[in-house]
Amino acid sequence: MTLQNRSWAEPYKIKMVEPLKMTTESERQAAIVEAGYNTFLLPSEDVYIDLLTDSGCGAMSDRQWAGMMAGDEAYAGSANFYKMRDAVEEYYSYKYTVPTHQGRGAENILSQILIADGNYVPGNMYFTTTRLHQELAGATFVDVIVDEAHDPASDYPFKGNVDIAKLEALAKEVGADKIPYVCIATCVNMAGGQPISMANLKEVRAWCDANNVLLVHDMTRVAENAFFIQQREDGYRDKSIREIVYELCDLTDAATMSSKKDALVNIGGFLAMNDDSIYEKACNLVVVYEGLHTYGGMAGRDMEALAIGITESVQDDHISARVGQVEYLGNKLKMMGVPIVNPIGGHAVFLDARAILPHIPQDQFPAQALAAALYVDAGVRVMERGAVSAGRSKETGENFMPKLELVRLTLPRRVYTQAHMDVVAESVERVMKQASEIKGLKFTYEPEYLRFFRGKFEPVEG
Ligand SMILES: *Cc1c(COP(=O)(O)O)cnc(C)c1O
Repeated sequence: MTLQNRSWAEPYKIKMVEPLKMTTESERQAAIVEAGYNTFLLPSEDVYIDLLTDSGCGAMSDRQWAGMMAGDEAYAGSANFYKMRDAVEEYYSYKYTVPTHQGRGAENILSQILIADGNYVPGNMYFTTTRLHQELAGATFVDVIVDEAHDPASDYPFKGNVDIAKLEALAKEVGADKIPYVCIATCVNMAGGQPISMANLKEVRAWCDANNVLLVHDMTRVAENAFFIQQREDGYRDKSIREIVYELCDLTDAATMSSKKDALVNIGGFLAMNDDSIYEKACNLVVVYEGLHTYGGMAGRDMEALAIGITESVQDDHISARVGQVEYLGNKLKMMGVPIVNPIGGHAVFLDARAILPHIPQDQFPAQALAAALYVDAGVRVMERGAVSAGRSKETGENFMPKLELVRLTLPRRVYTQAHMDVVAESVERVMKQASEIKGLKFTYEPEYLRFFRGKFEPVEG
């Protein structure tokens, strides 16, 4: 294998810099103990390279910053809202847009509108906030993703695909009338940033039509998914990212969006749909939880930046550099012999913590321990995606033990350089060489909801 050093050279240049604080290993050791071995609880000041998430931490363009100055901060009917709404319709196909403060605001409203107590919501793997809002609205989430998604060694090119047989089996078991909608994420975060194919989405669409079930799109990473379709799926090589994004959206009935990811802004989101009765209900609820239906928790300037971010996010040059940087880091780690999830995802590289720390049982949270060790080594902040994130069963109170016990190295958009990626890879290699010294962890504090955000840990001794 050779490194494709030039494949992703950035289609932009740096206009402003943010100096970073350099820390020593003993400072970092003290900081991680203080943070209860949870990288979410580290002050960002103490972080050198922040790969915690790609959410809201991307760099905006000069055009977006210029747009911030054109904010119309009227309470009602802001000009920026109409511009954002028009961009959603032009690029994403959906007729109606309801702004929300971020993705989970949209999930809350949509779940309340569509879900009745005792319903089932199938999806191509869960996402933390999405599943929680479905559960709070009375539904049970059912994973219908293909088996390959759960196998970190599988090279299957579309690990975000739905196994239609699983969907069929669920409908047989509970009745299609208990399924208000199928929830499809593009570029499935929890599977490692893995795409769904257009062909599979068309099959899901057909199944939904045949069973009178709606199709909802978690479109947080739709542009990254479109890139993989362009690269891997027959018939799409000559289509633009913009065209593929539109086609994906157009196959679905409604969408929730965290614009803090693909859409290149620091805050915001929306709910979008084609059905006017769902829109009417969403307008009723958004005033309860978010704000008026023409701002929904967003400032006018933020809606302006989002409208511009949407147009930038579907540029072929942008997305090939974005995913190319992730591939650069992933390929470098592979060449060093680090076990990672295959194929390399669209927004992140996922380390297989079970393979790196075979001496730590899963109920001692190997991925959490590995994330903490990586911070101490070089100040690189990453996060756990394994048993801690998976939480506990609503029924039994037992810890879920997901097949994937991963550490996620997530790249913010347009923020770091290739040299930063080299530092990260070298740190992972160093930590792997000292893996046997890393200890498992146990909770000292466990929050009730989404425990990975604020949970605290200490090492298991002995
Ligand atoms: C981030 C994310 C969300 C939630 O969005 P927020 O803006 O963080 O509330 C939902 N789904 C997926 C796939 C995400 O990555």
